[in-house]
Amino acid sequence: MKHIIIGGVAGGATAAARIRRLDEFAEIILLEKGKYISYANCGLPYYIGGTIQERAELFLQTPKSFGRRYNIDVRVENEVIAIDTAAKNITIRRKDGAIYNEQYDKLLLSPGAIPVKPPLQGIDLEGIFTLRNVDDTDDIKAHLNSHHVKSAVVVGAGFIGLEMAENLYHAGAEVSIIEMGNQVMAPVDFSIASHVHQHLKEKGVNLYLEQTVAQFEKRDNRIEVVFKSGKSIVTDMVILSIGVRPETQLAKSAGLKIGETGGIWVDEYLQTSAKDVYAVGDAIEFPHPLTGKPWLNYLANPANRQGRIVADNMATGNTTKYEGAIGTSIAKVFDLTVASTGLAAKRLKQLGIEYGSSTTHSASHAGYYPDALPLTLKLTFDPVSGKLYGGQSVGYGGVDKRIDQIALLIKHGGTVFDLTKVEHTYAPPFSSAKDPVAIAGYVAGNIVSGVMPVITWRQIQEADLSRTLLLDVRTPEEHVLGAIPDSINIPLDDLRSRIDELPKDKTIYIYCAAGLRGYLAMKILKARGFNDIRNLSGGYKTYDLATAPV
Ligand code: FAD
Repeated sequence: MKHIIIGGVAGGATAAARIRRLDEFAEIILLEKGKYISYANCGLPYYIGGTIQERAELFLQTPKSFGRRYNIDVRVENEVIAIDTAAKNITIRRKDGAIYNEQYDKLLLSPGAIPVKPPLQGIDLEGIFTLRNVDDTDDIKAHLNSHHVKSAVVVGAGFIGLEMAENLYHAGAEVSIIEMGNQVMAPVDFSIASHVHQHLKEKGVNLYLEQTVAQFEKRDNRIEVVFKSGKSIVTDMVILSIGVRPETQLAKSAGLKIGETGGIWVDEYLQTSAKDVYAVGDAIEFPHPLTGKPWLNYLANPANRQGRIVADNMATGNTTKYEGAIGTSIAKVFDLTVASTGLAAKRLKQLGIEYGSSTTHSASHAGYYPDALPLTLKLTFDPVSGKLYGGQSVGYGGVDKRIDQIALLIKHGGTVFDLTKVEHTYAPPFSSAKDPVAIAGYVAGNIVSGVMPVITWRQIQEADLSRTLLLDVRTPEEHVLGAIPDSINIPLDDLRSRIDELPKDKTIYIYCAAGLRGYLAMKILKARGFNDIRNLSGGYKTYDLATAPV
């Protein structure tokens, strides 16, 4: 059996190694148009910033070591330029321009994604970069070294844009981020992103939201980034990080079916519309397990898993199905960690899916043990059954393990009630006896069962104060330091004695710092005949961050 694999990094290299483990005698050719295979693209920003000091650390394998270990014919600087699926033949161009052909029995495409580069005036000026591979990294590093970069602009505040912002800051630059949307990190909800906005401000990063770049102009040795609004910034370098799209040129010209979101269409065995031709990674689209709708998911874990699954199907026939990814991702932004899985509220809204949500603020571990730091969890779920749709978290430690637990439950069709059953490891340095995931589950469970009706920070802003009372049950000291405008303050511990101050003919929106005291106040009021009450989800902390000016 002769297997040919196009693309030698995440999906391609994984598949090649697995095929060898399944079939010691197969012929395997790995074709990569770049100079390197199996390198750590996710580590590239950290090499640029100096956290990873040795360039060699980025290479998990060299073409030679990989070829030798797995007995694979690795050909770098060999670009596949055509596929004839009827004749099972591909055309390859070597670096020296020579063209040759190869026959295949099974073919895999793992060509990845390409950065979006809009046709703006000046986009090709020296000093403007995209980051996708080792060559881009070398170019950025060389520019940093040769131009004594003092300021840098990152266009686009996605995960990679933010990682680059941090790393350019570590490399000594004053960093400005320009983002067209009203928040950083599009996959998470605004209230979670607002923690990042605050943190970036604290770090001295200039954040321009709802600003679009119109053009770039050369100013001596520097670049002027001109916004549509007329504002401009003069800088030493620009990183364009406004997104990627699937690399489908080869697939299109081979007549392979392209799906509705623009990725290569594959079936559940990761086989394309042509027999014996498979595709994985950033280039494919696949139905989202929660929505059933195809989507593009540019992440390393799915690419690697798909590489392994597809190898089974190529080596032993179509036996292993891929179940799809829900988009579990994480990023470090300076001292913060932001992670998410499944569907955020804004995505559910776009899809027209009814949902409930809850926001809880806990600590990364037991509060009485040193260095416990805040950790926020937002859940989205079916408002009736409690089926989990998504989880988002932001904090300084332990964010990853919480989102990983939630992701596992979502993939197994779990509900918010299942979150309370997660048996987690506990000792004071690591967690609390009631882990943040369990707390989030209890709160969301109370919302689903109707025990605790909630209101969101957005709904509070739209509240009609002629029919609504805003009740702050924190202490007077907390109230003075910052409160929702027009709210009255009756501390929780005084509530029973001051109950007569509350109107029974108005809706009462209760809030405290994070939600717990609000819930206790709600219990007291309910027992005393107040029926139209809601508790602010996430409390004043969420409201304050989400409404802070950027
Ligand atoms: P790739 O790994 O990109 O490999 C595709 C390869 O195919 C390329 O080397 C390309 O040269 C080659 N190729 C394309 N066309 C041809 C052709 N015609 N002939 C021969 N070769 C061809 N994901 C995460 O989950 N977490 C992270 O922290 C993270 N950080 C990232 C940071 C950066 C800077 C980048 C660029 C990506 C990051 N990703 C991260 C995304 C992750 O790297 C990708 O999802 C993953 O590599 C996709 O695997 P792939 O095999 O589809 O494509």
